[in-house]
Amino acid sequence: MKGAALKIVSLGKTFGGKTGAVQALRDVNLEVGGAEFVTIVGPSGCGKSTLLSLVAGLEEPTTGWVEMDGMRVDGPGADRVVVFQEAALFPWLDVQANVQFGLKVAGVPRNERQARVAEFIKMVQLENFTHARIHELSGGMKQRVGLARALVLRPRVLLMDEPFAALDVQIREEMQVVVQDLWLRNATTTLFVTHDVREAAVLGDRIVVLSHRPGTVSTVLTNDAPRPRTQNDPTVLEQIRKANEILKAEVTWADQHPL
Ligand code: ADP
Ligand code: MG
Repeated sequence: MKGAALKIVSLGKTFGGKTGAVQALRDVNLEVGGAEFVTIVGPSGCGKSTLLSLVAGLEEPTTGWVEMDGMRVDGPGADRVVVFQEAALFPWLDVQANVQFGLKVAGVPRNERQARVAEFIKMVQLENFTHARIHELSGGMKQRVGLARALVLRPRVLLMDEPFAALDVQIREEMQVVVQDLWLRNATTTLFVTHDVREAAVLGDRIVVLSHRPGTVSTVLTNDAPRPRTQNDPTVLEQIRKANEILKAEVTWADQHPL
C-alpha cells in the first residue's frame, strides 16, 4: 500500500518466562492506510494485546518492526495514542481537566487548549458533564471521556484494545455508533482490537482475523459499505459469518494441537 500510515513488518514476539518461553506472535505483516479503520479479531490469547503494545511501543519486537510514516517505532510516542478497556482517567480531576491533561503536558497554549477540549467534549456528547467528577459517570461515559482525551491530541493513529468489552451490550452498541461518528468527523487512522466478531465487522473497513497463538494474520476481510453501520446491515452480517467460520477453524486447530 503506497503511503501507508502504519506498517507492520514480519513482526514477532516471544516472552521469556520462568515456565519457558511463550511465543505470542509470529510473522505479522499488515499495512494500514491513512484514515483507515482496521479491526483485529482473534481467539482469546492469540496475541491481540501484544500486537497493539508493539505498535504503541510499549513492548519491543523479537522479530521484525513497526513503521509510522516511514519511521521505525522504538518506544511510545504522541503520534500513537492508546485507549484501553479501563479508561484509566484521573479520579481527582473533572471531565474537562481529564480531556485537557495531555494538551497541557504537550504545552499547547491555554486558549487553543480550551477550544479544542470544548470541541471534543461536545463531540462525545458530554457537554452537560464538563465539570462532573469521574466517579459520577457511567462506564459508557467514562469511555467517551477516554476517547475525547485520546482524539483531542490528534494522534496519527488511534489504538484501541477492547475498549468496550466491560460494557453492557446496549451501551456497547451505542459506543459503536459514537466511534463511527468520531471517525467520520476526524478521519483518524484506527487500529481496533476486539474478541467480538460482530463489533469487528460493524467497525472495520478491513477486518483482520488472527490465527490461534502464536498469532499471525489468517485472513483480511474488506467492507466498504457506507457508515454508520449496524450489526444488522447485510454486508456486516456477511462479514460476521465469514469471520466466524475462520475463527472456528482456528480454534478447532488449536484444540487439536495443544501447545
Ligand atoms: P490476547 O490479547 O489476544 O488475548 P495477549 O496478547 O494478551 O492475547 O497474550 C498472548 C500470549 O502472550 C498469551 O499466552 C499471554 O499469556 C502471553 N503474554 C502476554 N503478555 C505477556 C508478558 N508480559 N509476559 C509473558 N507472557 C505474556
Ligand atoms: Mg487482550
